[in-house]
Amino acid sequence: MAKYKLEYIWLDGYKPLASLRSKTQIKEFASFPKLAELPIWGFDGSSTQQAEGKSSDCKLHPVAVYPDSTRKNGVLVMCEVMMPDDKTPHPSNSRATIPDDPDTWFGFEQEYFFFKDGAPLGFPKNGYPAPQGPYYTGVGYQNVGCVAREIVEKHIDICLDAGINLEGINAEVAKGQWEFQIFGKGSKNAADQMWVARYILARLCEGYGIDIEWRCKPILAPFQQPLDWNGSGMHSNFSTKFLREKGGKAYFEKLMAAFEKNIDEHIAVYGPENHLRLTGLHETQSIDKFSYGLSDRGASIRMPVNFIANGYKGYLEDRRPNSAADPYLVAGRIVKTCQSVPTK
Ligand code: ADP
Ligand code: MN
Ligand code: MN
Ligand code: MN
Repeated sequence: MAKYKLEYIWLDGYKPLASLRSKTQIKEFASFPKLAELPIWGFDGSSTQQAEGKSSDCKLHPVAVYPDSTRKNGVLVMCEVMMPDDKTPHPSNSRATIPDDPDTWFGFEQEYFFFKDGAPLGFPKNGYPAPQGPYYTGVGYQNVGCVAREIVEKHIDICLDAGINLEGINAEVAKGQWEFQIFGKGSKNAADQMWVARYILARLCEGYGIDIEWRCKPILAPFQQPLDWNGSGMHSNFSTKFLREKGGKAYFEKLMAAFEKNIDEHIAVYGPENHLRLTGLHETQSIDKFSYGLSDRGASIRMPVNFIANGYKGYLEDRRPNSAADPYLVAGRIVKTCQSVPTK
């Protein structure tokens, strides 16, 4: 038997942006615990905007488990928040809104900024660094500074040790901005992994005196005007079984009509402050327009380069979700819109 450190992770009730919360409990197991062996736990919801003080208990139900190589016998336990009856999902439980579908796959591209002392990492004390250009996929101290790469390297290793399907990283267009990508099969899987990968990154940065800025347009002039710096997205690549195996132009056009009809429902869950980012500039479409195109990074939905040649088959990239969006809400909405379109 060994004592394992179980880090229970959940989303709080803050709006418009839920934050990650976590706490540790120590339990003894014969070997690395399986999901079914992990106990239900609880927390004080009155401290996380999830309950009133007079009836404060919320429940934590483990939904995914990952090894934590940063701690001896460490375990990362992603949880859903439930009501005290252990049956009803808490209103903040966005994961519970995702229709179950093992054959829908998601690949999320998470962009984010490192922030130190209130500014993107590498920005001078007053003012701005050289304009965008050399930073995207750049190398050298001038372009990426001196700790960013150390952090992203550690992030890769901790994620891989955890069995998280992290597919890559890159320095992004703005100074201090980076990206990682996560892929998962099943309507909830990639989003579970994404929340845990976000957790790992935020926790890792504590020791560097750095925060992750998840908001989509953190570099603003006075009066909240976006400056000429890219925002952060969470491009959401998705495919259903039908889209991968059958596809076809007629079906694709019906699917896009459904996305267009539901533009408001999608934008509502694609992250706060998205009007600052979806301006039609910086590789985005305007927030109130819907469009699609082959290889078109100015469209709402981009078809990858071979999509048409392959008979309108494969995956699609919804470019609208932003870096602060809840991947559970994004996945849930995309699955619902796909399910609204008959395949015959
Ligand atoms: P880009 O930066 O050119 O938009 P990336 O390589 O950063 O593209 O991201 C592409 C994403 O597409 C990856 O996250 C990958 O996992 C995802 N992806 C690839 N194939 C599929 C698929 N069949 N279904 C869903 N997502 C997919
Ligand atoms: Mn990318
Ligand atoms: Mn990117
Ligand atoms: Mn992309």
